[in-house]
Amino acid sequence: MSRVAVVTGGTRGIGAAISKGLKEAGYSVAATYAGNDEKANAFKEETGIPVYKFDVADAAACEAGLKQIEGDLGPVDVLVNNAGITRDRMFHKMTFEQWSDVMRTNLDSMFTMTRPLIEGMQARKFGRIIIISSINGQKGQMGQANYSAAKAGVIGFAKALAQENASKGITVNVIAPGYIGTEMVMAVPKEVLDTKIIPQIPVGRLGEAEEIARCVTFLASDGAGFITGSTLSVNGGQYMA
Ligand code: NDP
Repeated sequence: MSRVAVVTGGTRGIGAAISKGLKEAGYSVAATYAGNDEKANAFKEETGIPVYKFDVADAAACEAGLKQIEGDLGPVDVLVNNAGITRDRMFHKMTFEQWSDVMRTNLDSMFTMTRPLIEGMQARKFGRIIIISSINGQKGQMGQANYSAAKAGVIGFAKALAQENASKGITVNVIAPGYIGTEMVMAVPKEVLDTKIIPQIPVGRLGEAEEIARCVTFLASDGAGFITGSTLSVNGGQYMA
């Protein structure tokens, strides 16, 4: 029987590429999303991957959503904590709501999604937890004090959880993407991309969502069992952490 993988925010952007990559690798995949039904339904139609709508910041909703996924597909072996948002503003202008929205979606979700699954993974002596952080959690970014704090926070979370579970067949790793050509980045004016962003990337181009997806598929595999607590920087050489 194929292993079961859950990808949060798995219906568009990087998450959609991760969901598709895992499906191609033979996993039974569930993709979650927040509220964009149109995108989620189009993704489901295109890929045949089932989609589940619940807020990763809502602990009770996650518990119920994961119960439904496990009822439909079986126990979860691979969790990809990918869902994330930005609410950019210089810190001296930032509202508590902007801070808190980012913390809840990007950091509280580590608890709400992982806590309901970890004991089952321990009992079955197998688990792969992969977290999508960001280059801006590693180096900081002006206008993103909230996002940089949350994305750095997930790296600490992964290291602690990796230590607690290393002897139990569970690995916990982080991928820190640089600029990836998703809708969010492609919305930046071409001139800004060409003159300000791409020149900072030694490889000389934006990354592709599939390049993150391939890393996830590798870290999820049995062959990656000796890698835990690590952060894989996938940023074209922009920041060598
Ligand atoms: P997108 O904005 O394209 O997609 C975000 C996905 O997350 C959507 O499926 C969205 O659902 C879902 N989502 C957002 N908030 C919630 C929530 N509260 N509950 C459940 N699902 C939610 O994001 P990207 O693909 O650009 O980014 C994916 C991850 O990669 C994020 O963690 C981001 O921070 C990180 N990242 C992205 C980079 C980039 O260049 N794009 C660079 C570095 C890191 P819905 O469609 O319903 O809104």
